[in-house]
Amino acid sequence: MSNKGAAHDPETLAFYDREAKNYAVRPKPERNKRLEQFLTSLAPGAKILELGCGGGQDSEAMIRAGFDVTPTDGSPGLAREAERRLGQPVKILRFEDLDERAAFDAVWASACLLHVPADRLADVLTNVHAALRGGGRFYASYKMGDGGDRDSLGRYYNFPSREKLAAAYKQAGDWATVTMEEAAGGGYDGVPRTFLHVTAVKA
Ligand code: SAM
Repeated sequence: MSNKGAAHDPETLAFYDREAKNYAVRPKPERNKRLEQFLTSLAPGAKILELGCGGGQDSEAMIRAGFDVTPTDGSPGLAREAERRLGQPVKILRFEDLDERAAFDAVWASACLLHVPADRLADVLTNVHAALRGGGRFYASYKMGDGGDRDSLGRYYNFPSREKLAAAYKQAGDWATVTMEEAAGGGYDGVPRTFLHVTAVKA
């Protein structure tokens, strides 16, 4: 029998549902250079799955750039807000329920897998690995730290070290490359943090 905990944190999803209207319109930089760089590495029209799309701003940019985007989020409230922005259906999908096989050229997961319970992260990364085609590219960002904790808004974060994160990716499947970059960043709680930006290419 597995002694792992819950596959997601209900309080965190409840927070996003409650805050959906405000969260979806929070100010975001006009351009996302990291996303633009990610897109330049993909073939025109590539099929991209976005996990935890929030208000849908990144999906909007990818669709505008001509990609075949599947936007998803685990919060019904935010999925609705993203639908309003995008004018297309947004699937309500929790990370742990992703069960596609070799269906996408890329997966974009900006600042969302950082909410996966630490002992479940490798399982979710396994789902992402399976959903990618060979050579598929996967971006995700995390708040770096030394273990799971809540922020002042009650949201759970896995706060991994570089080593813990590297181990979770390794457990998830074969990657041709996994690159990690540290950079300063912020969040809805207003606390400055070091982010780990991870790009992995499926073997
Ligand atoms: N990616 C968006 C962005 O960069 O603006 C939103 C980031 S927000 C910090 C985290 C997102 O992850 C929220 O939209 C939330 O609803 C979603 N989320 C949290 N837990 C989830 C889960 N278990 N499954 C799917 N989505 C989840």
